[in-house]
Amino acid sequence: MEHLKKKILIADDSERFFTQIKNHVKSHAFIIETTTSGNDCLKRLETFKPDLVVVDFMLPEIHGIEILKAAKKTSHSSAIGVILTCYHGMIQNYRCAAKLGANYFLEKPYQASSFFELVDLFFWGDLKLNPFPEKKHDAEIPSSPLFNRPTENSYLKFWGTRGSNPVAGMEYVQFGGNTPCLEVRHGKDLLIIDAGSGIRALGQELGTQANVDLNILISHTHWDHLLGFPFFLPLYQPKRKICIYTPVGFEKGTKELFSDMLAYAYFPVAINDIQSNLSFENLRDSEILTFGGITVSTHYAFHPGSTLCFKLDIAGKKIGYVTDNEFLLGCQLPPSQIEKHEDLFIPYEPLIHFLKGCDILVHEAQYNQEEYLTREGWGHSSIYNACMLLKKTGIKHWIVTHHDPRHTDAMLLEKKKLHIKALKELDHHCEVQFAYDGLLLSLDNLSEKKPKS
Ligand SMILES: [Zn+2]
Ligand SMILES: [Zn+2]
Repeated sequence: MEHLKKKILIADDSERFFTQIKNHVKSHAFIIETTTSGNDCLKRLETFKPDLVVVDFMLPEIHGIEILKAAKKTSHSSAIGVILTCYHGMIQNYRCAAKLGANYFLEKPYQASSFFELVDLFFWGDLKLNPFPEKKHDAEIPSSPLFNRPTENSYLKFWGTRGSNPVAGMEYVQFGGNTPCLEVRHGKDLLIIDAGSGIRALGQELGTQANVDLNILISHTHWDHLLGFPFFLPLYQPKRKICIYTPVGFEKGTKELFSDMLAYAYFPVAINDIQSNLSFENLRDSEILTFGGITVSTHYAFHPGSTLCFKLDIAGKKIGYVTDNEFLLGCQLPPSQIEKHEDLFIPYEPLIHFLKGCDILVHEAQYNQEEYLTREGWGHSSIYNACMLLKKTGIKHWIVTHHDPRHTDAMLLEKKKLHIKALKELDHHCEVQFAYDGLLLSLDNLSEKKPKS
């Protein structure tokens, strides 16, 4: 009768379970083999040919999911059963196992009697995958001591001013190291632009404002403008409405892009796990959107991929917000020479026209002249070329942002002098202000209030 007995392979790094199971009275009804090694487990799938494998997620050498895949592929039996075991089950692991056809998810420690109940159910054809035990989270929004809302009615707050990648360290304390995120406020109206690492701290503040619907415009989907998104607290607040606007991409749709970013391989929360009411909208060039008292117009920027820049109309002020833009691509001339070459500006005329009339331009000048010699076509402006944009648009207040991650505080202070010198050479009178993480620019009485540099 031995040949009629069903075969079970148990793979676990703890022999404690083997002893319990082998000592149980029901163990004689089966042929049971055990292993503590992933490599050995794979071999036994072929040599022992089990009908049921009970494998631990954290099996030494080869994890349980890899064994599950191999077991379900084994040619001798497509009906081979797999029960995954683990301590402290994680929902993400459970979902992967379920997707790959696991028959049961058994939390350790378990009793030999319940083990054999599951085994019987499996061989009777009655074992159904159990639901993951949901752990209830407290959905209450904690009040945050960080929240200290400015008293200004209308303002811009820069939560991240670094381009390309975040930086940290003693040499970056003055300007900060978070990547782009801008808070735009007009009374109760709020708009967020970009979801760089700066958005994490903004999310902490917003966490206390339960009833505010959030709209986030993404200029483009490069990492520096997205990487804070998964850490944005309001995403995890049920009933919170969040709408994400991104430029129509060249390859992937917006939702697909965000779903990919939140795959379990990269982050423990998938898009479908997010508790807030999340929606996605496409953004295109030449659009005008209104968020209460804030109006936003869009225009193409000169940057790799589908990239937009914005013009904000708020409290009677116009603000250009252009974080990633290579103006006068490839032009290495000094300021005094650039103006003589009128044809250089032809490709940029629509952008100049779009920005003309702004009270403030937030625009990058990521590279100094030496750096730009080797970085043409990287999608960012040199100091001279950015200064030329200020002159061409006639804008008198420039907030420089999207600082290069290699530029320390000391270098940025030196760089500011180069901006002022180049603007002087161009005979363009313009206030130059270097943005830093936390900069609050009041738009109330802007004309009377000179910004501090
Ligand atoms: Zn950027
Ligand atoms: Zn970019």
